[in-house]
Amino acid sequence: MTSNWFVSMAYFVVTVVFILGLKAMASPVTARRGIVWAGFAMVAATVVTFFIPGLNNVGLMVAAIVLGGGAAWWSGKVVKMTDMPQMVAIYNGMGGGAAAGIAAVELVRGAEHDAVTSTLLVLGAIIGSVAFSGSCVAFAKLQGLLNKAIRLPAQNNVNFFLALATFGIGLTVGYSAAPSGFEIFLFFVLALALGVVLVLPIGGADMPVVISLLNAFTGLAVGFKGFVIGNPALIVAGIVVGASGMLLTQLMAKAMNRPIKNIIFAPITGAAAEGGEAVEGTMRELSAMDAASLMRYGQKVIIVPGYGMAVAGAQHKVWEMAQLLEEAGVEVVFAIHPVAGRMPGHMNVLLAEAGVPYDKIFDLEEINADFAQADVALVIGANDVVNPVARTDKSSPIYGMPILNADMAQNVIVVKRGKGAGYSGIENALFYKDNCRMLYGSAQQVVGEVIQNVKALEG
Ligand code: NDP
Repeated sequence: MTSNWFVSMAYFVVTVVFILGLKAMASPVTARRGIVWAGFAMVAATVVTFFIPGLNNVGLMVAAIVLGGGAAWWSGKVVKMTDMPQMVAIYNGMGGGAAAGIAAVELVRGAEHDAVTSTLLVLGAIIGSVAFSGSCVAFAKLQGLLNKAIRLPAQNNVNFFLALATFGIGLTVGYSAAPSGFEIFLFFVLALALGVVLVLPIGGADMPVVISLLNAFTGLAVGFKGFVIGNPALIVAGIVVGASGMLLTQLMAKAMNRPIKNIIFAPITGAAAEGGEAVEGTMRELSAMDAASLMRYGQKVIIVPGYGMAVAGAQHKVWEMAQLLEEAGVEVVFAIHPVAGRMPGHMNVLLAEAGVPYDKIFDLEEINADFAQADVALVIGANDVVNPVARTDKSSPIYGMPILNADMAQNVIVVKRGKGAGYSGIENALFYKDNCRMLYGSAQQVVGEVIQNVKALEG
């Protein structure tokens, strides 16, 4: 009794800290603090679990914590910033897998449940399995292990019938007094297959939304499992993750102007990505010296960072350049597209890591009107997020996606290594515009050269 009271109180405190941690994560200024709080709450929740009376398999639990914790500690230390999305995808999958695992144990145990609990058990098992296998596919895609988009013939019919079969057998298993091992096995195989077929066709620019959606699924599955095994910390943590994941999914889908149903049922695949009018004209180059003087003698420079800046690890050099320009009296700010890079908030994290103050970093809605007054828009390793065909070409697969209006600046300088397209595989009309010049090379090296030239102009 005493121990139960202690466990309940501890879970309550943990739950409050989870919510406070999540709230703190909403702003870049307090995000680090929020992550640390939530991390401590997670450790506390794990430790408290050992105080639940009548626990079995304590040795196995300790072994799982040591193995899982060790692997997470090691991977968290060595993962490169550019590989972070894959890591988020796989960690997310593990959460879904764990929820499905709990459901499997409950089903095999054949415990008696009321109708509501049985329904949540089955739903949690399906959603957790889908989140697990879907996240594994997302991981493989982001890691470059899998062709970006594989579409089966009559894909939507396959999805529909597989989902129907999974729910059908799920209900049989969930409401039967003693489901057979084969039925349970078949149920999980179908649920895992559903996750695979749902994510396989999705590629290109839709990937961030999918990861966020799978994250929301994991949260829901964990919340349902919390209900089934009567664990309040799991219920709250799961529902909070599920709800915030759903909100983030909606925000991102809105930012990309892609309704969620289109992302799942009508994804942009390789073939669709070839749509859109052909872009005509030629790309013109400029030198690092010309780029340096255009910016040094301008009044306002807006820097648009993208995935290429992350790959090159150029954020420190970019901030060094920005500071030099500011010392020379130029106003320099950063414009961040909601899906720049390969995960939500990717650019904010990189710039914060380099020491860029938060009041110099602006979201799309805050900054878009300012491009028209900028002397230079410096696009560093960004592509899709500044592609004006999203505004102009109705036949383009990214038509309607809000973009940063870099093309409206007086001069546009684009730093990239060659003529390669962006993540969605679509040609960028910005690069062919009269006010645009290309500065070829890897971002870190090119920005280094610009810095030398700005210094030379000062000297
Ligand atoms: P893009 O992927 O569209 O473009 C990146 C550009 O960087 C490429 O054109 C590439 O050109 C250039 N590049 C690559 N390496 C370097 C380097 N070392 N130095 C300089 N340039 C380099 O990036 P954006 O950030 O503009 O757009 C993000 C895209 O990713 C969107 O389509 C988005 O939907 C998608 N996405 C976003 C996620 C998110 O959550 N943010 C998750 C998954 C996908 P070149 O090869 O010629 O150098």
